Amino acid sequence: MATQGFTTTIVHGDKAMGVEHGGVHKPIHTSVQYGFDKVEDLIGVFQGTLKGGFNYARQGTPTTAALEAKLTRMEGGLGSICFATGMGAIAAIFLTLLKSGDHLVASRYVFGNTNSIFGTLRSLGIEVTTVDATDVAHVEAAVQPNTRMVFVETIANPGTQIPDLAPIGALCRSKGLVYVVDNTITSPALFQPRTVDASLVVNSLTKTIAGHGTALGGAVTDTGLFDWSAYPNIFPAYRKGDARQWGLAQIRKKGLRDMGASLSSEQAHSISVGAETLALRVAQTSATALALARFLEAHPAVVKVFYPQLESHPQYAVAQQHFSAGSWLLSFELADADACLAFINRLQLPVKATGLGDTRTLIIPVAPTIFWEAGAEVRAQMGIADGLIRLSVGLEDAADLLADFAQALA
Ligand SMILES: *Cc1c(COP(=O)(O)O)cnc(C)c1O
Repeated sequence: MATQGFTTTIVHGDKAMGVEHGGVHKPIHTSVQYGFDKVEDLIGVFQGTLKGGFNYARQGTPTTAALEAKLTRMEGGLGSICFATGMGAIAAIFLTLLKSGDHLVASRYVFGNTNSIFGTLRSLGIEVTTVDATDVAHVEAAVQPNTRMVFVETIANPGTQIPDLAPIGALCRSKGLVYVVDNTITSPALFQPRTVDASLVVNSLTKTIAGHGTALGGAVTDTGLFDWSAYPNIFPAYRKGDARQWGLAQIRKKGLRDMGASLSSEQAHSISVGAETLALRVAQTSATALALARFLEAHPAVVKVFYPQLESHPQYAVAQQHFSAGSWLLSFELADADACLAFINRLQLPVKATGLGDTRTLIIPVAPTIFWEAGAEVRAQMGIADGLIRLSVGLEDAADLLADFAQALA
């Protein structure tokens, strides 16, 4: 079955799990409690000896489990755990696998709220060093004896910086560090982080995978490449059986139980349906984004365009090597930063809104909105100019978007 294509595998994924009453789609299981005929089975679920059993929906339901199986196939991983949001997934990784006195090395170019949780980690006694991860040398220089983990995003939002993905993977492997790759912008349709030796993959399901702007969700996938038996922070309760499962067991048990950011079955169902068209949507939105990027780069009113498939992109070679397309994320700066708001108002199609990965194109001026609270210093560090505009390219016909940008820039 490994020879099947990405979308074939996903749309037929439910069959492997067994779908109740021959339903073609996995149903929405709303039960919070799961009962058993024999109390021994209930005990088996608690003790992990009855595989695939459910007891309380905070730890998962048959519907979230079906989505997890789908995500595991998409990422080519060992297993996945769903959360209520992408931030729920990220928080679960940091707070279940790191403890006071540990050190995290992270890319300086990360999602704003991920940057915010670094502050929370510091307040808990976990050291965080942020570096320009586009060069593995900066990551290597930051590694200390107490470093446990390295965190990067495939394509950073909003600046589209791409880390030195494979060399960082090799570094983490040689030093026994957990390599966490946030694959949200690329999604497994464009890139599987296991190919660069990632240990854990994060996806904000809210964005590319659900893809319709109608569901929140997040997931962690273990690629199966990390040796958890050598990781010092696994609690004795999870140091049992196959060591490849230890990381997942701890993130699921502690993450969902202690922090409680559990995905609901209703949202899991929406995300599952969205995931079935993932490859089709990213192919279309990437093609439109590239056409828009080329148009903007050639336009005299535009000074800078940030898109991984433009030859002018600083990490163009890395993008060519690893990503099958450029994604729907595109940022640019106008020559006249003061003209930015009037320009956005002249656009007819893009919705002036935050958020990413919707069916509609979304547009936002970055500095006065999502990076306002971060302050001027963080913005300067991240290369966010006052006139930077971020686009999340949607499913509109490319010709319509191009025409709209042409009239608004004229
Ligand atoms: C949105 C986003 C997140 C957080 O996801 P939510 O589902 O909004 O919590 C994490 N990482 C990246 C790269 C994102 O774009």
